[in-house]
Amino acid sequence: MQKLVVLTGAGMSAESGIRTFRDNGGLWEEHDVTEVATPEAWARNPKLVNRFYNERRKQLLECEPNAGHTGLAELEKHFDVDIITQNVDDLHERAGSSKILHLHGELKKVRSSVDPSYVVELDGWELKLGDKCPKGSQLRPHIVWFGEAVPAMEDAIPIVEQADILVVVGTSLNVYPAAGLVYYAQEGIPIYVIDPARPEVKIKGVEYIQKGAGEGVEKLKEILIK
Ligand code: NAD
Repeated sequence: MQKLVVLTGAGMSAESGIRTFRDNGGLWEEHDVTEVATPEAWARNPKLVNRFYNERRKQLLECEPNAGHTGLAELEKHFDVDIITQNVDDLHERAGSSKILHLHGELKKVRSSVDPSYVVELDGWELKLGDKCPKGSQLRPHIVWFGEAVPAMEDAIPIVEQADILVVVGTSLNVYPAAGLVYYAQEGIPIYVIDPARPEVKIKGVEYIQKGAGEGVEKLKEILIK
């Protein structure tokens, strides 16, 4: 089976009702990211940051995977599919994809502020200030904030290097190091970019499918499954 690697971003979940990040003039759900998605913001105003992620978690409970997510899960019948996502939602999981690497953390999980290896799934949507890890530190969202290291890159790079086909869905390719992953693909493999916009990939022969995730994945299936 050929290895199909899919790199996804916020646009993947747009049709599920989760807003993208850059499409709103730098405001994500009415917030300036520097106020809610950085370690400095957490240190300065944990109440605001925690409320922001509680709201995102609550919203996620009301969202369902879209046709793009389910289409990618169906591709497992024909390909060895690996999903590498910048998204923190669990919509790829709920659509039935089996190999998913989250580069930027997972909304439904929380972790210790002092021991990064202590990660637990939250029961429900609400993390409370005062909820502590066994070592006594405040639990924080299991999110890679802007300015923090992305440890999952170590696992993501070899996956992209082994791809026979690379697909990019719904990412502006603006957030590094994730955006650099496409350049680890072996020279000459087919690369498809599904996005209503045309995020720039400086590789010759990239094929753009200028559609939203649902229609775009459907089109991809027509191309790949003869
Ligand atoms: P981004 O907002 O920078 O880019 C979104 C891309 O999606 C754009 O290129 C846009 O043209 C495209 N898009 C818009 N509607 C689409 C649709 N219906 N179908 C397909 N594509 C569509 O997002 P990014 O590149 O993922 O980077 C932003 C960061 O924000 C990431 O780190 C991500 O973790 C975070 N984020 C995550 C979520 C989520 O988990 N669902 C939501 C918002 C932001």
